[in-house]
Amino acid sequence: MPNPIFASLPTTIFEVMSGLSRELGAINLGQGFPDESGPLAIREAAARACVDGPNQYPPMAGLPELRQAVAEHYNARQGLDLDWAREVTVTSGATEALAACFLGLIEPGDEVVVIQPVYDAYLPMIRRAGGVPRLISLTPPHWRLTREALESVFSEKTRLVALNNPLNPAAVAFAEEDLALLAEFCVRYDAVAVCDEVWEQVVFAPHLHRPLIGFPGMRERCVKIGSAGKMFALTGWKIGFLCAAPALTQVLAKTHQFLTFTTPPNLQAAIAWGLSNSDDWFARMPLDLARSRDRLAAGLTREGFKVLESQGTYFLNVDLPASGIEEDDVSFCMRAVKDHGIAAIPVSSFYETGPVTTIARLCFAKADATLDEGVRRLARARAAVAR
Ligand code: PMP
Ligand code: GLN
Repeated sequence: MPNPIFASLPTTIFEVMSGLSRELGAINLGQGFPDESGPLAIREAAARACVDGPNQYPPMAGLPELRQAVAEHYNARQGLDLDWAREVTVTSGATEALAACFLGLIEPGDEVVVIQPVYDAYLPMIRRAGGVPRLISLTPPHWRLTREALESVFSEKTRLVALNNPLNPAAVAFAEEDLALLAEFCVRYDAVAVCDEVWEQVVFAPHLHRPLIGFPGMRERCVKIGSAGKMFALTGWKIGFLCAAPALTQVLAKTHQFLTFTTPPNLQAAIAWGLSNSDDWFARMPLDLARSRDRLAAGLTREGFKVLESQGTYFLNVDLPASGIEEDDVSFCMRAVKDHGIAAIPVSSFYETGPVTTIARLCFAKADATLDEGVRRLARARAAVAR
């Protein structure tokens, strides 16, 4: 018999919506990927590396030049003090890094605090590792962590907490006081925090990304996960980074050893070059995305939609009841893609047990014309049912 945890899973909502978009020729504001590929110079560096090498197995922990570039990047931009040789491991995307954390750090029966909305890969991997998820739910419009919520799930059995910051799909960069609160609980219960920070570069002024590993007491008990896919709008490349104190890195490196062992060396070389030569990109990319966010938000507002604030990520959420739509998010998104040719993601997919069922997520990392046509189609989907 196959393992029931994976055998019983549906196909992820991202693949379902992208599949329907392809089949129906819909505009796809569902799955989060940009219209445009990332910086040409990085793609050219990858092309050169495919021709000239390296093309054979790289060192298991990743190319030294990339691990050095990752440590320098975080040390310069986020005020960290990472030691590339003992604290940085390259993985095949953040997805592999998450798997390495859950498989390597959970003992069967350990409790894992999980914050909903939760990215869909976490819970199946945690359960397959024998972890027992303890869920808390954040709710719109502010998606704040509270002391009461943390008190209700942390216990002596807590081994890990899984944090996604900035939070997909809520599009918030956690406030300093929320992170300080979480750090206080991690220290009190001797828990390790798995910090999925793949959206760390996609944060819009005046908001800031604050890495949990920089909070008092967290340096030795955080695993910081990054993704070159999100940093450079190259989502298909699947180059991830695991950064953690040596004691944690030693375990994670052994887990990585038997998940993928290594990650394509030519793409690693290109990202190493990119990290050291992209100050312009890191300055411009969030400004361009904020402009796209504002264009989509203005168009939707004009058409009667209520949009929530987006502080970061590629995503903007609409509140359906506040937009005059008395329909749950799954019904709305299915009707929108099938009848009106516009794909969105129902945010309820990020909750196992509610309570958020009436928010739809839209990806604005698209060309202006795509966003404008998306607004027209969403307006038609709204008009068909609006009060
Ligand atoms: N975590 C979150 C919160 C994400 O949104 C994504 C994908 N966008 C991932 C992990 C996976 O990242 P990667 O493609 O590097 O595996
Ligand atoms: N992270 C992307 C999103 O939230 C999806 C990635 C995937 O399809 N697994 O849309």
